[in-house]
Amino acid sequence: MGAASELEAVVPARAPWSGVVPAGAVLTITDLEGQQAVDFLCYDAADPSDRYSATNTIKVQGNIHVGLGTVLFADSGAALMTVIADSFGLHDTIYGCCSNPNNRLRYGVMTTESCYSNFAAELARRGLGREAIVPNINWFMRVPVNPDGSAGIAEGATEPGSAVSLRAERDVLAVLSNCPQMHNPCNGYAPSPVRVRIARDQTD
Ligand SMILES: [Zn+2]
Repeated sequence: MGAASELEAVVPARAPWSGVVPAGAVLTITDLEGQQAVDFLCYDAADPSDRYSATNTIKVQGNIHVGLGTVLFADSGAALMTVIADSFGLHDTIYGCCSNPNNRLRYGVMTTESCYSNFAAELARRGLGREAIVPNINWFMRVPVNPDGSAGIAEGATEPGSAVSLRAERDVLAVLSNCPQMHNPCNGYAPSPVRVRIARDQTD
């Protein structure tokens, strides 16, 4: 039997969150109501300049998707986290986060809510600037790529209660944005809360 959970929180719709996941501990993100994308970055807590690298993660695994068994690698090649449980599969890590500029370019709108602004606000609380924002993982979001290279966000398919669990391979700062996007189907046009939990091990 594992030790008691160290932290559990509900991240409201459209809100950011961050937390330090100690080496060996497990972060579980649960899509409580379904059809909710969660934009995610992680950093070596001891040296946040070494952060999640989508390209290293894609190249080492030879796959553009993130799912069970995927190791999240840093720029340095260090393993930051490993996906140890996943009820969704084929999470995206090529499309990046929504932002005012890409909302304007894609949809002709200016919004003040975006994952980019959420990341910037949450990173500022951790003493980090917007240069710390790099291409991220989009949990519970699928971006199928066609043979001709065309790609797009699939209609949200997450069941309520879908979850992904990540074991920290070193002390990791995890930063997420509960995506506020309303101009594409990634949140089913109805952003909803998600739950985060940090436990000492998988059995907690
Ligand atoms: Zn977003």
